[in-house]
Amino acid sequence: MKPTILSRSLKEIEDICVQLGKPKFHARQLHDWIWKKFQLDPNKMTNLSLDFRNSISEYFSFSPLELVKVQDSADGETKKFLWRLHDSALVESVLIIAPDRKTVCVSSQVGCPARCAFCASGKKGLIRNLSWEEIVAQVMLIQSHIQEQNEMVTNIVYMGMGEPMKNYEEMVKSVRILIDPNFLGFSQRRVTVSTVGVVEGIRRFAHEGLKVNLVLSLHAPNQVVRQKIIPYARQYALEDILSAMDEYFAVTKRDITYEYTLLEGINDEVEHAQELVKLLRGKQCTVNLIPYNPIPGIRLKRPSAERIEAFREVLNNAYVVNTCRYTKGVDIAAACGQLALQEGEPALRVINQ
Ligand code: SAH
Repeated sequence: MKPTILSRSLKEIEDICVQLGKPKFHARQLHDWIWKKFQLDPNKMTNLSLDFRNSISEYFSFSPLELVKVQDSADGETKKFLWRLHDSALVESVLIIAPDRKTVCVSSQVGCPARCAFCASGKKGLIRNLSWEEIVAQVMLIQSHIQEQNEMVTNIVYMGMGEPMKNYEEMVKSVRILIDPNFLGFSQRRVTVSTVGVVEGIRRFAHEGLKVNLVLSLHAPNQVVRQKIIPYARQYALEDILSAMDEYFAVTKRDITYEYTLLEGINDEVEHAQELVKLLRGKQCTVNLIPYNPIPGIRLKRPSAERIEAFREVLNNAYVVNTCRYTKGVDIAAACGQLALQEGEPALRVINQ
């Protein structure tokens, strides 16, 4: 397999130019095509000679992802991208379109080790980690797709398939490339990493010198209910996870968000809301409530609007800042993992059951 050109620095590409007997300035042109224009198709790098493009393509691959399909939601608010990787594995990204922002939800792994009861991504466990190039290319290719309509990706969330903290090194590298002004140059405030609660990962992340947003997928006000929803939660005590989140806040000063997927009869009682208020007392945070988005074959229910309002009222009365996000793109199965699941998985060994 050829290495990807994405992993080469400008200096390395200059050296390659010299070896190929080409002028050094071709390296800057190539670098700009990739990192300023998000062009991963050498055929479209029209100011570079065909000869140069052919020589480089002999040694390097350009795009680590091949687009299999794009699905638009009927309301026009989400687009789902399904990608095939070099080993035929499938992953997906979602573009969430709002008037003031275009958010790309990236995958960090093929499959997921967390196996949350309500999520399709982890149904077959973890298949493999994505490389930082495979993570970053999701953003670049979507940017390249929407810039034809004069749109720009404004925000990135690590909320697609996978557990970012379980692909720690590559996830952190991908974040650094996203925010590096020489590469994609996103503001750190516009990058959000979401975790199921991997204590050592969160603590380490606090000391990376980064100031990106961090979200914890909490989903329950206590350990017992949490373990019912997230089998993976057995590995960490909830209090340890919350103290790791506090550490992230103390070091980075970035507000913390707690995601809470509401599942009827499991975590949506008024008593759960009261317990949640106690759990989060004194924390500077936002609770993001997400009514469960039904997935075929999963026997869970989205609570009624009345139950959701009753839950919110408890939070509001206790001044717990909260938002309620009705998952977008229900008609195109935009909940994590659904599209790749529908397409059928390649015959890869499933690890980390
Ligand atoms: N592993 C990371 C990143 C995945 S993001 C994490 O757990 O945070 C996962 C988020 O997607 C969850 O917080 C949940 O809010 C959302 N999600 C996944 N499937 C969903 C569904 N069927 N309905 C509603 N939200 C869902």
